[in-house]
Amino acid sequence: MEKIRIGISSCLLGEAVRYDGGHKLDRFLRDTLGQYVEYVPVCPEVECGFGIPRESMHLEGDPQAPRLVTTRTKRDVTDQMLTWAHRRVAELERENLCGFIFKSNSPSSGMERVKIFDRNGMPGKIGIGVFAGVFMHHFPLIPVEEEGRLHDPVLRESFIERIFVLKRWREMMQQSATIGSLVNFHTRHKLLIMAHSPKHYTSLGKLVANGKAIPEEELYRQYQFLLMEGLKLKVTVKKNTNVLQHLMGYFKRELSADEKQELMELIEHYHQGHFPLIVPIIVINHYARKYGQPYLKIQYYLNPHPLELQLRNHV
Ligand code: SF4
Repeated sequence: MEKIRIGISSCLLGEAVRYDGGHKLDRFLRDTLGQYVEYVPVCPEVECGFGIPRESMHLEGDPQAPRLVTTRTKRDVTDQMLTWAHRRVAELERENLCGFIFKSNSPSSGMERVKIFDRNGMPGKIGIGVFAGVFMHHFPLIPVEEEGRLHDPVLRESFIERIFVLKRWREMMQQSATIGSLVNFHTRHKLLIMAHSPKHYTSLGKLVANGKAIPEEELYRQYQFLLMEGLKLKVTVKKNTNVLQHLMGYFKRELSADEKQELMELIEHYHQGHFPLIVPIIVINHYARKYGQPYLKIQYYLNPHPLELQLRNHV
């Protein structure tokens, strides 16, 4: 697999592009995740022509349509930013991005909960940074996150899982967009989807089963939409426990009574929060290899992203 391309707010990589000439380096993103992805840095305020250093800006006015305004001289730069942002997202279509990591709280790059100030300079409602809003509207199916939220282990794992899924989807579509490939893709992602949303698991299963009755382009469009929509839903301990118990069913005949008991206890310990998810996953992976379970060996749920990222050690 070639490296996954991810857009990122430039300051998170340590580039000195902030209004005061500083940066907001995030070491996990640059040094750890950066080994597996190729970043496409974007700094809206610099690329839009505001320079470094520059006057700071914030969102102001009507919460439904806030303006981007410089804080001291009160220059409204919304239109300049919007014109650039629409041009930039059109360019980004060529970058094959599988995700975007935004800098939180920025009036240009913040994905959510960005303060909107009233006429008296008081923060009131919250909104979306101007560039982030244009990006998310233009690419509704591309996974997006903020660096602050990525410090939460569950959100981090979920985001990284989604970018890997989207990359595999794109590769499948490029290499061989056939019903057979779709069935294969779906089979390998079934348990991963189940862990996010049993409802989407059922809908996607039905869609694939009826695949031959739907024009192919429409089938792929619906599948990708439902897939990315389902994966957006948060995985919980309860949902993971259900999937782990479901997985146990595949070893009904192979495991001894003692092994079954041990695995059940491991799953219960995970459920109670005594162990991270990686513990039952390692044991199930071991049994899948030992007993040659072909269906489980290909499940991305058991190997969704590089182990070195240690994402399941904390969830
Ligand atoms: S938050 Fe966005 S606009 Fe601000 S410095 Fe970082 S990349 Fe540039």
